[in-house]
Amino acid sequence: MDALGQQGRSVDDVIADLTEKRANDVRWSDGKTFGMVYDGGPSVHAVAEEAARLYLHENALNTQAFPSLAAIQREVVGWTASLLHGDDDVAGFLTSGGTESILCAVLAARERASAERGITEPEIVLAETAHAAFHKAAHNFGLTVRKAPVRPDFTADVDAMAQMVNENTAIVVGSAPQYPQGVQDDIVAIAALAASVGANCHVDACMGGFVLPFAERLGRDVTPWDFRVDGVTTISADIHKLGYAPKGVSVILHRTKQSRSYQTFVFDDWLGGFYASPNMQGTRSGLPMACAWAVMQHLGIDGYVELTRQTLINADRMRAGIMAIDGLRVLGDGQFHLVAMAAEEGSGIDAFALGDALLKRGWYHDRQAPPDNLHSTVSNTNTGVIDDYLVDLEECVAEITGTTTDDRSTTYATLE
Ligand SMILES: *Cc1c(COP(=O)(O)O)cnc(C)c1O
Repeated sequence: MDALGQQGRSVDDVIADLTEKRANDVRWSDGKTFGMVYDGGPSVHAVAEEAARLYLHENALNTQAFPSLAAIQREVVGWTASLLHGDDDVAGFLTSGGTESILCAVLAARERASAERGITEPEIVLAETAHAAFHKAAHNFGLTVRKAPVRPDFTADVDAMAQMVNENTAIVVGSAPQYPQGVQDDIVAIAALAASVGANCHVDACMGGFVLPFAERLGRDVTPWDFRVDGVTTISADIHKLGYAPKGVSVILHRTKQSRSYQTFVFDDWLGGFYASPNMQGTRSGLPMACAWAVMQHLGIDGYVELTRQTLINADRMRAGIMAIDGLRVLGDGQFHLVAMAAEEGSGIDAFALGDALLKRGWYHDRQAPPDNLHSTVSNTNTGVIDDYLVDLEECVAEITGTTTDDRSTTYATLE
């Protein structure tokens, strides 16, 4: 293990080293990465970078010291609530990301179930496509997971979920859309199911929260999923995905202030003073919050509609191109910005060998299974490259047909 050097180094030296370290990182800025970084274009970078400089050192731990961060949080949460058709009672907080928003939602549901229904052995009902963060939340907060299968179209099997809902159910989860195949669950049915036992219904719109409202404005057919649906109690929406803010910011919304109160921790018996905490964090960087504020103000509804229009053009073109290639198929009938590409049975195509060949040409996908497939989160990042991608895809298919790779591992998130 290396020890930290005794002597400090010059700013130029340090920055040169950091710059060099990045050499092998995915090159998202050339548009060849389908996920993880979402590029809203040069002016979005500019406004985020200026905001980051202003708020690099600010701390939202105590908004009496930094009242601007209280205002920023209130405004960003309010704009998001209004996009998702919340009324004046809807309340929320900013968090560091989708996982933290989900942790908050599950914790709040558990606390509500305990306080209002006396539940001591809380359960969470979800589909196998619900994000892994719900399993993390159940693990951390002691809920039993009831995991339902999906239908052949990859939407949650709500009939199967209904068999799993009981008097211990604290929370039922639907996704709009889910991550693996990008299809939207039947939120109306899932919310009704949750309401039938007095449980929370969380809609995971980490991916869709800043896409579906604009897709709807573009005239796309978006089935109801937000606060317009009775029984939906909480929603998560990530600004650091298709909201085009840099990493570290998501919104957790509750239908009522009462519901939100179950997520907060307030403690007034410490020698360090009164401690009130909205989410999982203590010290809380103001940087991502300010960047989110700046990017949302810069884009406005019109900016988001335009980025969504471009995103959907990219995704539609990608889906059509994949389906036009012999031996490839798209899993599910996703209408939005997520695309899962798999091989037809008997085609001789190994999806993971295909992924390796694409990576050699600079195209980065996550690998998922079962069935083996390559995942894309398409965004404005990929504008202008889809035609090149499809040319490479066809060549890579020709190259690898009949071959396989030994590496069957899937990739979504890593430890070190
Ligand atoms: C990204 C994502 C999450 C988790 O969000 P992080 O910001 O990565 O913590 C949860 N649900 C869905 C559907 C997602 O796409």
